[in-house]
Formats: sequence, structure tokens, C-alpha cells
Amino acid sequence: MMIRTLALAASATLAIAPAALAEDYPCANFTIGFDFTALESLTPILRRQGGEAAIDAALELPSVQAIVRKQTQSHEDRSTAERLREELLAWQSGSEGEIEDPVYPFPDDETLSGMEAVLSDFRADPETLMAPACERLSVFLPADYDTPLNSVFVMGVNSAGFAFGDPVLYIGFHRMYDDLPALELVLVHELYHGAQGAYRPVSEETEAALTEDERRVLDYLRNGYLEGSAMWVADPADFEGDGAMLDYFQTRLERGVRERGNLFTFFEASLYQLANDPTTDPRRHYFAGFTGEERNYNVGYIISRAIEANYGRERLAQVMTEPPTVFYRLYAEAEDRNGPELSETFLAILTDMEAALERAEAEN
Ligand SMILES: [Zn+2]
Repeated sequence: MMIRTLALAASATLAIAPAALAEDYPCANFTIGFDFTALESLTPILRRQGGEAAIDAALELPSVQAIVRKQTQSHEDRSTAERLREELLAWQSGSEGEIEDPVYPFPDDETLSGMEAVLSDFRADPETLMAPACERLSVFLPADYDTPLNSVFVMGVNSAGFAFGDPVLYIGFHRMYDDLPALELVLVHELYHGAQGAYRPVSEETEAALTEDERRVLDYLRNGYLEGSAMWVADPADFEGDGAMLDYFQTRLERGVRERGNLFTFFEASLYQLANDPTTDPRRHYFAGFTGEERNYNVGYIISRAIEANYGRERLAQVMTEPPTVFYRLYAEAEDRNGPELSETFLAILTDMEAALERAEAEN
């Protein structure tokens, strides 16, 4: 009995690692944990406190290592632990103005103080943010969803929120700490990614049995599903507020929906090239569709909206447990798409992908 209890306690600790500093927030059949270690360890350094030891201790934290990992997406080999250490040393000595082409956009003193104030309000009263966030999120999850989610608050990244495909999500708190509706929007969007990360509908073995071209197509389709559905769950049109960040999300959605025909054409063009031109760099297509204007988010949003309208919210929730091809197939077969039809080219690539997955699965 004793051993069993200990084992349970150990696995519970692992599930919410690294450190959950606030109480875990219970939501439906799962909990949402919080990790503020990156903010807590980096804030004094940015305020010129502590010595090198404080920097080295911060660099040991998984939450701080995630900042390095995220920034490799836009800075590639320039984002390393060593580079972060150098930039933090500059901040600590007050010479951050001399950093040439900084990799980590750290906030100034005034922003840090603002972040601290909002964070202490949040820790004193998590309900104000978390009750509506949980309500929004939980209705879009499979009914039996029970994997704990861990929310890690960070800064020094270009992104407002991100996730790496597991039940851990990251909030770039410096980007919208002073815009509560935008914070809730980003939090729900990333929590949805966290939940999606609890499933692995296409196993590693199956993916390994795909050809390089097939894997690239699958990745692109998967990103379209992941981003579009998360955007639909945290639908910018559903939020009210006058903050700049929320306005940015809402305006971009309006632009996208107005131009939906063009967006689907761009999506298909990249898909076609990934499927047929082995020399094309998949990162170019990822950047073109999923960063900046984030056009493909709107494509996936329109598809998610149609799936919910035609098959119900439960069906859309279920897609996180299935290969991403299902997402596009449901849209193609929907009676009322309220969006562009998928072209013959798109459908042919989709059919090939479905066959490839079946073949790869049979090989395992
Ligand atoms: Zn996202």
C-alpha cells in the first residue's frame, strides 16, 4: 500500500513537472498546472541583480531552455544556451543596448513591473481568467479527455504562445499581459494545442514508414489542422475588448475570411509543391503559411467551422485522436461548407496521403 502510494505520488509529480507554483486548476476531467519559474528566475537578472550564478541557475530550468528552443525557429543556429547566457550577462551588467541583433526580445523595466502586477493578481485570483478559459476549452475536447496540462509562462520570445506537440504549453507573457481578453484567447489556443499533444494518432513507426515527400505533406496537413482548430476554439470573433493584441487577432481573421478563396489556393499550392518537388524546402512553406499573416490558420478555421456546423462539436473534438487527413476529408464531404471547395488537385493529394498512411500502417 505504501509503495503504491509513493509510486502514484512520483508519477503525479512527473506529469506536472517542472514546478507547478500555483495550485493546479481543476477543469472538467483534468488539471491545468502553472510554471512561473522562467519569469521568476529571469526578472531579477534583467533588473541587474544576482551574479553569474543566477544566470547559470536559470539556464538549468526546462522553462528557460524552452525559450532557447522556441527562438531556434526564427533564429536557427543563433539561438543557443550559450547565446542566451551572453545576452543575460549583458542585461545584468546594464549593457543590453549594445547587444548586436538580439535573439531574445526581453522586456524593459516598466513592462517587467506590469507583468509582475498582473501575475500577482492572477495568482491571488486564478478564477477570473481560468473559469472562462476552462469553459471555452473543455467543450471542444473529447468527452474522456483526462491528461493534465502544464502552462509555462515565459518571456524573451517573439511568439505570444507556442507548444511543441506534448501536453505542455507556453505563454509569451510579455506580449499581452496587459490585455486580459487576448491573454485568455492565447491561453485557450495553446491549451488546445497541449491537449492535442496528448495524442499521437499517427505513430512514430507509421511516420517512419512514409517517404520523405509523404512526411512533408502530412506535416503540412497536420499544422493546418492543429492551428485552424485551435483558432476556432479560441475564436477571436467571440472575444470582446479594446486591447491592441485582441484587435490584431480579430482584424487578421476578418481579412482572412474575406479572402478565403485566395487562402485555399495558397494552401493548395504549397501542398502541391511539397508533394511533387523534392527540392523545395518545407520550412519556406511553413513560414509562408503559418507565420507572419498566418494565412493557413484561417484555412483551418474555416474547415473547423464547417465540421462543427455539419457534424457537431463532438465530431470536431474527436479529430485530435485521428490522422489529420480526417479533418480535410470531413470538410470535403460536408454538405454545407460555408467556404471554398477543395480542388481536384487538393483532393488527389489527400487521397494519396490516406493511401500512404494505410500502407505505412500495414508495414508495421
Ligand atoms: Zn497555434
